[in-house]
Amino acid sequence: MNIEDSMAQRLETIRRRIGQACERAGRSADEVTLLSVSKTFGEAAIREAVALGLTRFGENKAQEIRQKSAPLADCGIEWVMIGHLQTNKAKDVARLAAEVQSVDRLELAQALDRRLQAEGRRIRVLVQLKTSTEPSKYGLAPEELPDFLRTLQAYDTLDVQGLMTLAINSTDEASVRHCFRGLREWCERARQETGLALPRLSMGMSGDFETAIAEGSTEVRIGTAIFGSRPYGDAYYWPENGPVSTSS
Ligand SMILES: *Cc1c(COP(=O)(O)O)cnc(C)c1O
Repeated sequence: MNIEDSMAQRLETIRRRIGQACERAGRSADEVTLLSVSKTFGEAAIREAVALGLTRFGENKAQEIRQKSAPLADCGIEWVMIGHLQTNKAKDVARLAAEVQSVDRLELAQALDRRLQAEGRRIRVLVQLKTSTEPSKYGLAPEELPDFLRTLQAYDTLDVQGLMTLAINSTDEASVRHCFRGLREWCERARQETGLALPRLSMGMSGDFETAIAEGSTEVRIGTAIFGSRPYGDAYYWPENGPVSTSS
């Protein structure tokens, strides 16, 4: 591997850019956490990342969490589900994930709750909101958020901590910013209406995290900028996600 482009250097670059984006926004760098997104990458790459101090890894397929968690069991990894989750995959996630950021409908919350009760576990969850008009993006309709959050209070197994979104896949920064600002504003409104703290806003990926930080992100989800480019577009691995790629 070229020393100019090692994972260590890519990680250092990302951390520096996060710090600079925080500074520009008048925020403290410790307000923004980094979630490394390891989807499509194998054991060796993840071990390399663990050796660099990363402990939480985002995956967007329940099957990948299942496949990776056993061989990496010695690493103390927290697996974070960030992709569309079918209810029939809730069992694996309830058993193996520390957190689900893609809770976007009641049936999924119910399925997770049932499986988590069976496991005797409680996990952190974020509600995924649909802030862009792209047809293939999943997420709860923002207008439904307050009622949805109230309903989730019935599930003791779900520790609801905030919101997640994917911005529109566009090179137009204003459109991207509009999505992130939308998530922050919907969150503020939901806090007022429900009284919940909702401290976390998971928004921003390799291509748009600086804009997300300017709009109040508390967690950026970074894949390619740490691990390098994925061999195929996301639609290849997750055809059910439709043609719009979430990769940069
Ligand atoms: C793949 C993915 C990311 C990371 O995307 P990069 O462009 O590789 O940083 C973030 N969030 C979600 C939901 C993803 O599926």
